[in-house]
Amino acid sequence: MDVAAERIDRLHDLARAAAAADDDDRAREYVRLARRIAERNRLTLPRSFRRFTCDSCDSYLRPGKNARVRLQDGHVVVSCDCGSHARYPYET
Ligand SMILES: [Zn+2]
Repeated sequence: MDVAAERIDRLHDLARAAAAADDDDRAREYVRLARRIAERNRLTLPRSFRRFTCDSCDSYLRPGKNARVRLQDGHVVVSCDCGSHARYPYET
């Protein structure tokens, strides 16, 4: 794992911790920072990062808190409080 990927990993942890502490603004800052690092280094964000962040508002998503998760036609549909939806193929 290179340095940029490690930083993204750490920011993901920080975002998760901030979200768990109800500090959504701080969580969003970490998400944005991680996205910027990925962009600059042409890295693909880890799948778990993409699943738990909103593409529109950069929120760190917590199902039951600021996001809803539904199953639909073999897809997982994640709805953020900002109104944005993301669909993923259902995987076990
Ligand atoms: Zn959102």
